[in-house]
Amino acid sequence: MFADFWPRVALILGIAAPVALAGATELQSVRTASDSESTRVVLDISEPAGHRMFMLLNPSRVVVDLPGISARSGLPLPGAKGALTRVRMGKQPGDVLRVVLDVEPRVTPTSFVLGPEGQFGHRIVVDLRRSSREPVRETPPRAPEPEPPAAGAETQAPAPEVVMRAPAAGQGRDLVIAIDAGHGGKDPGAIGPKGGREKDVVLSISRQLAREVNSVPGMRALLIRDEDFYVAHRERMAIAHRAEADFFVSVHADAARNSRARGATVYALSTKRASDEAARRLAERENASDLIGGVSLSDKDPVLARVLLDLSQSAAISASTTAGEHIIGELGAVTRMRKTRVQHAPFIVLTSPDIPSLLIETGYISNPGEESVLRASSHQARIAKALSDGIVGYFRSNPPPGTHFAMNPLPPRPARHVISRGETLSQIAARYRVSLARLRQANNIRGDRIHAGQVLTIPTG
Ligand SMILES: [Zn+2]
Repeated sequence: MFADFWPRVALILGIAAPVALAGATELQSVRTASDSESTRVVLDISEPAGHRMFMLLNPSRVVVDLPGISARSGLPLPGAKGALTRVRMGKQPGDVLRVVLDVEPRVTPTSFVLGPEGQFGHRIVVDLRRSSREPVRETPPRAPEPEPPAAGAETQAPAPEVVMRAPAAGQGRDLVIAIDAGHGGKDPGAIGPKGGREKDVVLSISRQLAREVNSVPGMRALLIRDEDFYVAHRERMAIAHRAEADFFVSVHADAARNSRARGATVYALSTKRASDEAARRLAERENASDLIGGVSLSDKDPVLARVLLDLSQSAAISASTTAGEHIIGELGAVTRMRKTRVQHAPFIVLTSPDIPSLLIETGYISNPGEESVLRASSHQARIAKALSDGIVGYFRSNPPPGTHFAMNPLPPRPARHVISRGETLSQIAARYRVSLARLRQANNIRGDRIHAGQVLTIPTG
C-alpha cells in the first residue's frame, strides 16, 4: 500500500505542477549565491512549475529538467560560483528545458520550490552542498557517457542516472537524517516576551544538530532549511523523501498563553486524534504556518487528506514512537520535559508514510525563563547533542539493513529513562529487563525513592 502510494505523493509533492499551457512558462533568470558550505542556484520562473533533478558523475553535474518551460530569449547564464563551475542549458525532446550545473566533486544537491515572496516570484532552488566528510563510494558508470550539451545545443536521449550513496563493500551506506528547522522567512513561529523568535532559535539548534549528526560515522545530516526562508510543510517532507532520508526530525519551540508553561515535548504523528486538547491545538497552530509562510492552501491536495485520514501508518508511527523514547531519555537529562512519554498529534509535517518522523518542541519560548535558555547557544548545543544521541541510540538498536550502523554494530549505549509520575523502580526494572539491584546500583539509589522527571541510567549487558 505504501509502495504504491509514495510515487503518487512524490508526483504531487515534487514533480507535478499546476497545469499551465505548454510553453507558456518561462525561465526568466538564473541566479547564484554562495557561502563556505553551499552554493545556491535559483531559477526564477514565470509560473509555478514542476522539475526533476538528478545527479550524473564523471564529471560531476546536477541536471534539472523543466518540462513545459522555455528560456527567456537571450537569457544570460551565471558563471562559476562556489561549488558550481559552469551552467549550461539545452532543449530536450518532449518540450523539456534541461539546465546542467557542472559542479565540483563531492557535492550533494537538494532542490525545492518557493512561491512568490517580497520582490521574488516563483522559484526553483537548487542547493549544492559540499560534503564535509569522506566521500561515499560512487557507482562507476557502466559505459562512457556522452558529453552533455554545450549551452544552447540539442541533446538526444537523457544520459543514464547514476545511483548516489551506493554502499562500498563492508562499509554500509550513511543514514540520512533530515533536520527540519520549523517556520522561517515571513513565518517567525512563536515569539517570546523578550522578542526571541522561534524560527531563529530552532534554526540555530538545527544547525548544531547537523554538526553533531555529521560527526557520527555512518550518519549524514540534511538540513531542510539552513537559512531564514520558509518552506511549505509538504515540501519539507518531499525534500526528505527525495534525499531518501532515514529519519525526519522537525525542531520547534512551544508557546502558551500561560507564561509559566514550560518543558520540552516529543511528538509523533497521530492519524486519529491528538493525545490531548493541547496537542490538538498545537498541531493546528503549527500546521497553519503554511498560511503565514505565503503558501496557498487552496491547492491542498486530497492525497494529504487521505494520508491523514485513511492510511494506516502504524509501522512508521511505531518506529517514530520508539525513536522518540530514545530522544526523551537523552533530552530529559539536559532539559525539563513537559511530558516524559511520546505524544501524538496530527502534524502535517510528520505524515511521510515511510520515514520515521518526530516533531520536537524544545521548550516554551513564551516562558521568560525558558526563552532565555533557549536563546543561549550553550543550551542549544546541549539540546542538539541530546537529540543526536537519541537518534544514534535509536539506530544502534534498530539499524536499517545495508547501513554503516548495521554493518558495524557497536555495543548498545546504556539507555536513559525519564521517570513519569506514578512509576516505580520495580516497574522500570521490569520494563528494561534488569534487576532492581543493578538498577539501584547504576543510579546510586538506596531505597525506592524516585521522583517524576528524574533521569535513570539503564545498565546493559
Ligand atoms: Zn513551531
